[in-house]
Amino acid sequence: MVTETQKRGLPDFGFSSPIRGTEINYLFICPTKLWYFSHGITMEHESELVDMGKFIHERRYGREEKEVWIGGIKIDFVRNGDILEVHEVKKSKTLEKAHRMQLLYVLYYLRSHGIEAKGFLHYPDLNEVIEVKLNGHENEIENAMNQVQRIKKLPFPPRAELKPICKKCAYYELCWV
Ligand code: SF4
Repeated sequence: MVTETQKRGLPDFGFSSPIRGTEINYLFICPTKLWYFSHGITMEHESELVDMGKFIHERRYGREEKEVWIGGIKIDFVRNGDILEVHEVKKSKTLEKAHRMQLLYVLYYLRSHGIEAKGFLHYPDLNEVIEVKLNGHENEIENAMNQVQRIKKLPFPPRAELKPICKKCAYYELCWV
């Protein structure tokens, strides 16, 4: 069967990851959110922020390869030049640490399968593009992966802690209502 990735002429890596990029992202936003998400409780479609993110992506990057899956990890788009480029589009820099760790994880994952890639974070509303490099961050990513696995195995979600992003979180009603 020809996959969507092959149809677009992109590399089809044919391997899968036990940890999704979104899970690494959520680890740095909120462990409770990570637990809900990793247990199949997905409510993001109800979040206006996510809808806005999709709108920005469509408007700015409509002609790029978008929402490519690499070994079970979704990334916003890939440019396939001399060296593979992995691009993630984000709305604001409020959660930059989470964005950066998600992208580093993709780079780490690719490297662990023998593929070197460049990573770029796009903040179109700020007209900013940041290159993210894996070198020197390998231990940080491995620690994050261990933490994700530990939280996913918990029988109950970690205790919710109120923070500014809660009001915009799709799980708000689960935690606070
Ligand atoms: S509402 Fe707040 S505590 Fe609950 S999952 Fe979302 S960010 Fe975490």
